[in-house]
This record gives sequence, structure tokens and C-alpha cells, in this order.
Amino acid sequence: MKLHALSSPEELLEKIDVLCVPSSKEKAEIIYKDVLTRLVHEDTLPSFADFSSLKGPFTVFYGHWKGHKIKVVYYTDNGQLTEASMYSLAKKMAIKIKSDCQGNIGLWLQPIEQEEVVQSAFAGWTAGHYDLGLYKHHDKNNGKQNAAEVFTYISDESILQAAQTGISVGIVQREVMNLVNAPSNQKSPASLGAWASRSAAQFNYTVTILDKENLTALGMDALLAVNRGSEHPAKCIITQYSHPEATKKVVLVGKGVLFDTGGISMKGPRNLHHMKSDMAGAAAVLGTVEACARLKLKVHVTAIAPTTDNSVDRLSINPGDVISSFAGKTIEVIDTDAEGRLVLADALAYGIKEYQPDVIIDLATLTGSIIGAIGMQAAGLFSKNDQLIESLRSAGTATGERLWPMPMYDEYHEDMQSDIADIRNLSDKPYAGSVTAAKFLEYFTDKHTSWAHLDIAGVGFQPNGFGKGHCATAYGVRLLLKWLTANGN
Ligand SMILES: [Zn+2]
Repeated sequence: MKLHALSSPEELLEKIDVLCVPSSKEKAEIIYKDVLTRLVHEDTLPSFADFSSLKGPFTVFYGHWKGHKIKVVYYTDNGQLTEASMYSLAKKMAIKIKSDCQGNIGLWLQPIEQEEVVQSAFAGWTAGHYDLGLYKHHDKNNGKQNAAEVFTYISDESILQAAQTGISVGIVQREVMNLVNAPSNQKSPASLGAWASRSAAQFNYTVTILDKENLTALGMDALLAVNRGSEHPAKCIITQYSHPEATKKVVLVGKGVLFDTGGISMKGPRNLHHMKSDMAGAAAVLGTVEACARLKLKVHVTAIAPTTDNSVDRLSINPGDVISSFAGKTIEVIDTDAEGRLVLADALAYGIKEYQPDVIIDLATLTGSIIGAIGMQAAGLFSKNDQLIESLRSAGTATGERLWPMPMYDEYHEDMQSDIADIRNLSDKPYAGSVTAAKFLEYFTDKHTSWAHLDIAGVGFQPNGFGKGHCATAYGVRLLLKWLTANGN
């Protein structure tokens, strides 16, 4: 996304064919005076009373500037323009106009002064230009607009910087969406590792890929157990970006199950194709490290993505099998579909031992139970550290990537006790499944006092405007960047 930042409204109006104006009720009067009265002929201009009572969301006006026609697309939101609402507005606008409009597109953000809101406008705008048709044969000449460019006017250097930052964030989100939306026959632990290697080389951060031999030598037996049925050897992909002035060490762990059949405890056919998204946590943490490197944030951050698929094969683990783990604890595998917690158990234990983080946060499309509990409007947040809960929730509320705290009482752990091994991988109770999953993970965190688990099963892959069905949201990237910026140093 190339940004043409012009220094006056007049210069902007000379360059563009379409003017997109994301706004809110509180800004209506300024927009009316600055945009509509300037462009739209008084015969066709609605009265201010009519304009300010527009229900929206979209209204189109036609105006003229120095002899050329300009289509004005006004999108109004009833609330205030916050970081969260602006991201959502700009993303929806981009999705709508990319199929509807021709020519040069301008984005009118004045009179917004807050850098965070400008940043989220450009992030949403850039993310909204994502093309979900990864494998479609596009007619290259049929593009109606130049989606790679946007015009705006900005007079302040810090606002320009915020706009460029937003574009970088949106580009990373599109990368993350590509990884998650790719079907299982188009991705493997090796291809995800190759993506991380390319990104690390391009943006100057480090990557370490533990292959099957390394994992065996380290004793990552839980990850290897899940991988038994797969034709693709598991890998643990580790990326790290470190700013010289950073003082705090943060580790992010992301579940990287590239396709989850459920294994021998097989899932039903309904929406099984969604299971290509079971690596949304891995994509989010790898993307976040790339974003930190692109933006040169003052943080020291490591992403760990245990990566495999969970397939059905004569070699697959069976329900009732007892496996070992990196932490040396034995696990009774009651249900082979509860595999995400197995790969995370090894990655969490390894991350804590190897990197001794001040804070460790994992993101995982872990349980259907979290959707049963709180739906698709927030991710579940599990931690015993009140300060970490508060700071993560605050970042979630600000960005619109919401988090809702869930209980972590120790009584839940009793449901995970096994008769035959140190722990079982599925509760013996038919309820609180997202909580008992978190308690399973906690067992492998060596009582780390600053660990949080984010169950993103409801938010990582959902209907979000790019197509008819579910697709990736890149949930986690903006949340983690916000949190890291405020708390990561
Ligand atoms: Zn599963």
C-alpha cells in the first residue's frame, strides 16, 4: 500500500476520483462544512439536519472539484471514533469500495488528531484490501481501482508516521490472513518455516527451526506424538526480534496445528474445512514478531510455533495412550482431538526453560467450549496474574480485539487428574472445557507467575466481510502490538 500524503485538501482533491470519509455523529458538522459544502452543488446538497440524521452506514454523494467529478463515500458510525471503531470502519470501507469504485482513492481523516486513531484507520484500510481469492484466476485487467495506493492529506510529521505504521500493521495482517486461509494441502511445517525464514531475512530478525531430529533429542514427545500420523515431519518454528534498548523478555507461543482432523477421536464432517485455521495462533505470533521488526519497537520478543497437523493414520496415537513430554510429565491421551494442548505443553515448557521470559503469553484456537461460553465477540483470557489480565484487557478493548477473563480456580485441576499418568488431556466432566484446557496448560508452565493463555477459537476465523463464509481475521496482531508497545519494555 503506497501512501501519497499531500499537504493540503486542495492538492488531495485534485488527485482523486473517489473520496472516502469514515466519520461519526460527533464529527458530522465538520465533515458537512469541510467536505460536502465544498464539493457538492447546493441544489443536490441535503440540509445539515437531513445529513446529520443519516442512519448509514454508507451514503454516496457526487461532487465536483475544478471540473472533475468526485464520488464521496461517507460512512458514519453512531459512536465516537476510537481506535477500535476506526479500524472496523476503515476495513469495511476498503472492502466495499474495492469492488465498487474506479480511479484514485482518497481517504479523508481530518479533523482526527490522535495518532492511534490515524494508525488504526490505515491498518484497517490496508487489511480491508486483502484479497481472499488466493487461488482464483484473476482477470488482471478487470481491476477497477488501484488498490495498492491511497491518497490523503496530512500536515503533521507524527500523523504521517502513524499512517505509515498503520499500513505496516495492515500488511502484516494480510500476511497472517494468507497463512491461515491457505488450505492444508498448500501448507506444511516446512512451508511455514520457509515463510518465517524469508520474513526474518527481509526484516532483520532471527529464526531457529527445530526439526524432527532436534525435537526428538530435546524430548518434545507431546508434539511428536501428535505428529505421528502425519506425512509432514513436525517443526518448532522460533523467531526472535530484540531491540538493543529492550529490558523485558517476552515469549509468545502460538498453536500451529495446520489441519485438525481430530485424529483417531475424529471430528464430525460439519465445518471440518474450517480446521485449516487451527494454526491461527502460530500465524498471529509469527506475524507479531515480523511487525515488531518492521516497526523497530523497543521490545525483546520471541515467538514459538509448534507446528504439525493432526492426521489419521495407522501410526496415529490412540485414545488411552500415555505419552511423555518435554517437561518430563506423563500424559494420558483421553481424546486425540485435544491435541492443541499437547503441542502447547511442550512449547510452553521449552519456552520457559530456554528463554526464561519475564512474561509468556500463548494464543491458541484451543476449544469449542470457549465459543459455547462467550461466542465470537471476544477471546477467553486465562491467567492468575491480575496485572497481566488488566494490561491485556486494556489492549484488547483499545484495539477492538477483545478479551474476557475466565476463572482459573485450582479445583478445576482435579478434573484433569489421571489414574494412570501425571495428567489426562481431557476433563472427566462435560463442562468448563476451555477452563480445564487452560488448567492443563498451566501444569506445564512451571508455576510461571506471568503467564496468560488466550483461547482464540471464536475470534481467529469467522465471517468478517471478505467473503461469504468464515475466513481469517489476523486476531492477535494488533492486540499484541498494543500490549507490547505499552508493557513490553
Ligand atoms: Zn483438536
